[in-house]
Amino acid sequence: MPRPISVRIDPSALAHNFAQVSHRAQQAYAGHGLVPPRFWAVIKANAYGHGIAPAVHAFQAADGLAMLDLHEAIQCREQGWTKPLLLLEGIFSAADAELAAHYGLTIVVHTAEQLQWLQHTKLSQPLPAFIKLNTGMQRLGFDASDFAIAFQQAKALQQQATLGDLGVMTHFARADEDPSTTQQQMAHFNQYAAPHSSWQSVGNSAATLNTDFPQWLQPNVQYWLRPGICLYGSSPFIDLPAETLRLQPAQTLEAELIAVQHLKAGDQVGYGHTFTATQSMRLGVVACGYADGYPRHAPNGTPVVVGGIRTQLVGRVSMDMLTVDLSAIPHAQVGTKVVLWGHGGPSVDEVAQASGTLGYELLCAVAPRVPRFVLAEDNHEK
Ligand SMILES: *Cc1c(COP(=O)(O)O)cnc(C)c1O
Repeated sequence: MPRPISVRIDPSALAHNFAQVSHRAQQAYAGHGLVPPRFWAVIKANAYGHGIAPAVHAFQAADGLAMLDLHEAIQCREQGWTKPLLLLEGIFSAADAELAAHYGLTIVVHTAEQLQWLQHTKLSQPLPAFIKLNTGMQRLGFDASDFAIAFQQAKALQQQATLGDLGVMTHFARADEDPSTTQQQMAHFNQYAAPHSSWQSVGNSAATLNTDFPQWLQPNVQYWLRPGICLYGSSPFIDLPAETLRLQPAQTLEAELIAVQHLKAGDQVGYGHTFTATQSMRLGVVACGYADGYPRHAPNGTPVVVGGIRTQLVGRVSMDMLTVDLSAIPHAQVGTKVVLWGHGGPSVDEVAQASGTLGYELLCAVAPRVPRFVLAEDNHEK
């Protein structure tokens, strides 16, 4: 028998989350008299650990899919996706351009080198492109002072049929926590990028879900929003749980108890003896450790559900195991089901918060050694 741990993916939760997020944004945009937004569903990093194939099928209602890796874009075409695909970091070499053209991809152009690579290539079809403005993230994008020239060069490439339709784009640094920074970034974008094209892409999950965001947008612009994390049932906001946003978990990490220990007062648990029993208690050993993608930094008290009852981690997480308090779960025994996060367990955001990280990192990091099961689309967990 394989080691009793698995990760379950629920495509109907993914589809539900997309419908929920897009409906919420459509309402907000209509309320501000804006053009209905379109959506790139972001599926980078193997669809945030959920798998490209289930994501492609679950996000059929999206207008396009966005990712970083060429091979993930190719997988989408192989899965039958015919709508747009966006490479969020564009091409990494001149040779990528023809591959992108061959698969009908849309690219981001964020640096002068990419424009140079394109100058010396003859493509089988023009590449639609978003020219990216750096509005204060200081990661990718042309600065305001270079943007007009970059856009001009892109237009020249459009003349020679290397680039196709040209849009403009930016990315927000603090949309999850500080609206005033987003407002400033948007003002910058409206000043320097927006005049060049009415095909515009802004907005991660936090901006997509923020119903105040549309007040900084312009009429007659076709915005293509780029939600990612929220589609996977994790909240981008520290103080707003996913269920409040009516998002459903789509990834469930599950294991079983493989041993039960009976502790007496004073017994100490695991590496470093970081937990000491204050009275006699039962301790469960779970077949899940950091080599499975569970965060090693999860402290004593991190929530976990054992046999349907919520309890907590005690002792340090080791490579292949972790230990839990069974005091309140007398029926727990070897073979009892343990949900680390997801449906029937704590939310991935709760585990992340306890461990000093984000749901993003945990969802992406489930290890390849953990067997993955994808539920049938009509087999919803709720
Ligand atoms: C990852 C990413 C997104 C999606 O961000 P979320 O916070 O997951 O919604 C959007 N745009 C770009 C450029 C990204 O890299």
